[in-house]
Amino acid sequence: MSKPSRVVIVGGTHGNEWTGIQIVQHYQDELRNKFPSLKLEFIFANPEAHKLNSRFKDEDLNRAFEHLQVSRQSYEHARAHEIKKIIDREPCLVLDLHTTTASMGNTIIVSHYNPLNLSLCSKLSQEFKDCRVIGAPDPKLKYLASQSGFGLILEVGPVANSVVEAVALESTLSLMASILSAMSASSDEPLHGSVELFEETQDVPYPKNDKGELNGYIHSGFQGKNFQVIEGKFVPFRTFQNQNIEMKTEEKLFPIFINEAAYYAQNLAFTLCRKKTITF
Ligand SMILES: [Zn+2]
Repeated sequence: MSKPSRVVIVGGTHGNEWTGIQIVQHYQDELRNKFPSLKLEFIFANPEAHKLNSRFKDEDLNRAFEHLQVSRQSYEHARAHEIKKIIDREPCLVLDLHTTTASMGNTIIVSHYNPLNLSLCSKLSQEFKDCRVIGAPDPKLKYLASQSGFGLILEVGPVANSVVEAVALESTLSLMASILSAMSASSDEPLHGSVELFEETQDVPYPKNDKGELNGYIHSGFQGKNFQVIEGKFVPFRTFQNQNIEMKTEEKLFPIFINEAAYYAQNLAFTLCRKKTITF
């Protein structure tokens, strides 16, 4: 398989995740000088949402690609069309830069399980402490990074929305440098190997009362326990009436995105994953 020499680096898909925005605004020259054999293109994906200091203006851009064929009146719908056109111009790897308020460390999200994507994930998880791979198959192609066969989402945290934070910024740049150095290596030998990934299996909502209002919060013993194994009974929530809420699993599962700020709007408290090893 030949690697594309073009890499499309996208920041600000969510307008309040400032790390990626700073990278596409301030690190273009440095990255081009460091990786001269690559054709690097940079996209500031959602400037209108950034002006509002908000995740999005009309709808989540990182879900808007699912509706490309339908006519919709939304800023993100128009941006999705423009971004898709840029990605489609020539074969490329897409790197979509995100941050999370959950303590996820250096996370890579992969949707298309092909040898190039998986070999990059495998390299990163070997090179970086705290680097884990989430498998998020995307059959409806809703994510920006799924618009090319080769694409990864970088999701670094914890970092609050609307701040530039050293660890998040520098970790994202280090992950990118590792990916870009693999992409610029001249070898075109077939890629073989294996990678351990956490594949999303179940979303868990917050507790609600009869009126549909939030009626609890992530338990102190569960907060921050992303990627830590759960088996049998566990206590993810405590209600505002000081009751613990227990859940149970029959198999080993791993929670991710615990207490992510953006997911309150969808009533999503965390997602449970299965651990898998994929060979390629
Ligand atoms: Zn994001």
